[in-house]
Amino acid sequence: MLGLMQDRPLVLPHIFHRAEQLFGRKEIVTATADGEQRITIAEWAQRVRRLATALDRLGISADGRVATFCWNTAAHLELYLAAPCTGRVLHTLNIRLFPDQLTYIANHAEDEIVFVDRSLLPLLWPLTDKMDTVRHYVVIDDGADVDIPDDPRILDYDQLLAESEPFAGQFIVEDENTAAAMCYTSGTTGNPKGVVYSHRSTVLHSLISLIADGAALSERDVVLPIVPMFHANAWGLPYGCLLAGSTIVFPGPNMTPKAVLELLASHQVTVTGGVPTIWMGALPMLGDYDLSHLRVLLCGGSAVPKSLSEAYREKLGVPLLHAWGMTETSPIATMSTRRSQHDELTEEQRANVRAKQGQPVPLVELRLVDPDTGDELPWDDVHTGEIQAAGPWIAKEYYRGEGGGSQYTEDGWLRTGDVAAADEYGFVRLVDRTKDLVKSGGEWISSVELENEIMAHPKIAEAAVIAIPHERWVERPMACVVLKPGESLTAEEVLEHLKPRVAKWWLPDAVEFIDEVPKTSVGKFSKKTLRDKFAGYKLPGADA
Ligand code: ADP
Repeated sequence: MLGLMQDRPLVLPHIFHRAEQLFGRKEIVTATADGEQRITIAEWAQRVRRLATALDRLGISADGRVATFCWNTAAHLELYLAAPCTGRVLHTLNIRLFPDQLTYIANHAEDEIVFVDRSLLPLLWPLTDKMDTVRHYVVIDDGADVDIPDDPRILDYDQLLAESEPFAGQFIVEDENTAAAMCYTSGTTGNPKGVVYSHRSTVLHSLISLIADGAALSERDVVLPIVPMFHANAWGLPYGCLLAGSTIVFPGPNMTPKAVLELLASHQVTVTGGVPTIWMGALPMLGDYDLSHLRVLLCGGSAVPKSLSEAYREKLGVPLLHAWGMTETSPIATMSTRRSQHDELTEEQRANVRAKQGQPVPLVELRLVDPDTGDELPWDDVHTGEIQAAGPWIAKEYYRGEGGGSQYTEDGWLRTGDVAAADEYGFVRLVDRTKDLVKSGGEWISSVELENEIMAHPKIAEAAVIAIPHERWVERPMACVVLKPGESLTAEEVLEHLKPRVAKWWLPDAVEFIDEVPKTSVGKFSKKTLRDKFAGYKLPGADA
């Protein structure tokens, strides 16, 4: 027997029409080079409607890929809705990728048009001759003092909207499984691979920002998404805000910790989200701002050091809300919200829970699998294995079958490449990425755990641990340490600090002091760059 409920598709037009109908007076603020732009949702929605017509006028195919090369701005949010609501596919290009990767991605996705912030034009323009399928470049004027080349392919965004009538009526996307957006993974190995989100996956994932055991977005919130909209859809926050009716503050091009702190204070922001690097950078300046309105600081993308989260709890009364996921998981898969069982714990024990990546959010299923035997492992906080994920917003394959399906199991789960243990409540503790683990004498050493312990030292700003080949042990850990300004420390002192905290055989064989840990396109520690930098490095006693 079938249920007798309406079969309404889960599509982005619902998010658009809901925001337009219910929250027209709410504001979207965008920080610009010389101030702020304010626009109401009603005005913004009219611009989305004009943009929809403009895409038709420009002859963009029915399912054409509409690329963006933009900061977090209200205009970017216009594209977030106009492209999918007209059946096209939003393709957010990561502005921090290398030129070769960008042209590869644009050609692979067959982008027809690229919307680019004027401030970013100098990055994009030299690549355009290699972008074979792009017919138009639409420049969004963000006030940057940048020359615009005289080229027939270039259009002005505001002029394009002014010349286009607003689309009237309801946007309709009949099939909820239609592609809505695509994002390429940064491709630490091989070429970047395209993850294609559907309307259904996006709508369901957007709801996760609203759950109480998460960021609990509501109409009363003022939200500052720092995590870029060009990477994994800013963790779903922009769509979540529209669904909830929250006021949105976009940081625009200036994402320095100081600029972010100023926005948090001046707009009395209640919810924000960004990678740990941002919060590490902001920490020394916290005392200069009134951040008393903040209630959620969402943090993920790489492991959140316990010491960092605790520093926020001590200074602001709000720890970092740890979340884990990846481009392939839309990205939110787990969140570390406190459960009633944790009430009985000491603050120190709770800090350990907060340092975990958290429990799977509703509709996401996880399992831990022994990489050697393929057996499922118990959730006892001891056994570690690869996390595999399944759920309505988890990818089932890559665009055009790239990667040969090796990242997906026969029964349709995603192999995340992350190694973790899970406790009895399903709280995941990420140990490492499979490729970053240090394999020492047949046993694994978690580089993430070592880094966390090193970063707990008050004089240390950042630390990254990499594996160095070793004749006897196969690999041994080497710690790259960045000191806080004005501090000094010896390698021995770093090791002394670690001794009571980790097993003896985990102690790094060498400690190198560096000026900065190199970062990836999305601000994570780039272990690959470090491994390249220290290729051929000789550990003391390595030849023994
Ligand atoms: P890429 O693989 O291209 O870097 P993603 O941004 O999708 O792209 O990265 C996802 C990976 O980032 C995860 O597989 C995991 O290794 C890491 N990651 C994400 N969130 C966390 C977290 N909270 N703790 C530790 N690692 C994380």
